[in-house]
Amino acid sequence: KGSDGKYTVTLIEGDGIGPEISQSVKDIYSAANVPIKWETVDVTPRLKDGKTVIPDEAIESVNKNYVALKGPLATPVGKGHVSLNLTLRRTFNLFANVRPCRSIVGFKTPYDNVDTVLIRENTEGEYSGIEHVVVDGVVQSIKLITRDACERVLRFAFQHADAIGRKKVRAVHKATIMKMSDGLFLRTAHDVAKEFPHIEFDAELLDNTCLKMVTDPTPYNDKVLVMPNLYGDILSDMCAGLIGGLGLTPSGNIGDECSIFEAVHGSAPDIAGKQLANPTALLLSSIMMLQHMGLNEYAENIQQAIFKTIAEGKTITGDLGGSAKTYEYADAVIKALK
Ligand code: NAD
Repeated sequence: KGSDGKYTVTLIEGDGIGPEISQSVKDIYSAANVPIKWETVDVTPRLKDGKTVIPDEAIESVNKNYVALKGPLATPVGKGHVSLNLTLRRTFNLFANVRPCRSIVGFKTPYDNVDTVLIRENTEGEYSGIEHVVVDGVVQSIKLITRDACERVLRFAFQHADAIGRKKVRAVHKATIMKMSDGLFLRTAHDVAKEFPHIEFDAELLDNTCLKMVTDPTPYNDKVLVMPNLYGDILSDMCAGLIGGLGLTPSGNIGDECSIFEAVHGSAPDIAGKQLANPTALLLSSIMMLQHMGLNEYAENIQQAIFKTIAEGKTITGDLGGSAKTYEYADAVIKALK
């Protein structure tokens, strides 16, 4: 927090629709008088010692401000490019990915009243990137799981449950088959649960979770789900599907020191530069950021304005069935602020 009473937050506007949806966030934040100063950084990779790296200024900015809001980054197709998103996750050791999915009144999907919160281990498991050819036609991918990584994501899940007022944490796993790796995750979960006696803990097999969730998601509305990397990647997209998909789902990548909040969707090159993008996912990500920073009053105000605007349905973007431009929607949200 600076001497002017404002927090400086790193803003990575991103590619494609990134600058347009970031503009909406900036406009709504200044209208809501949120005490935040944006520090815009460019993360276009540069060549350094023969490797493509994120510019030092961007890394320094996030390290200094601890909090960043990030638009989508396009990953060039082709070999040799490490995804920038993965690089960011590794650079800042963002060990937990938090994905809430809540139904939005006014946007009809086959499910009403979805309110799931999923936490995914973000650094290891099947995504450790350890693969090799044993002999021609036989390959091996190693699922690496460490107690340390399990412990920190599980502890975070319980703390997050506390923070959002949920009394139940459920670990999702396949320890029946992955006896050692998921077994370690599950045992660690039982151990960490003892540190939080006021929170009810149980566990469920991933296949069972999928079946139950698409049958009726409402029993999950009072829980925080926590799981290893691959399961979280897939299940969180399934949850996004329950509430109507990509334009509406926010996420937070939480690290020991820094956290980066971002929309789940990509850079949408097909609609970029046309003011057709829906900024809601990035806005809701920024609301998670405000809650993370303890600026709950501002979060509440902007969130109610978003939900009101969508529920009214007069000024919504094309993906939600409306015809409003990105900035027209942002203006409507501004008018709905308290
Ligand atoms: P995408 O999410 O960009 O687009 C999928 C579809 O959804 C498109 O039709 C798009 O127009 C639409 N869409 C997405 N966001 C929208 C929004 N806010 N409002 C309205 N419509 C929206 O997925 P893609 O086309 O597979 O990927 C495009 C690029 O984005 C790729 O380079 C990919 O690597 C990258 N990507 C980045 C991230 C990230 O930065 N976190 C995530 C996913 C994809």
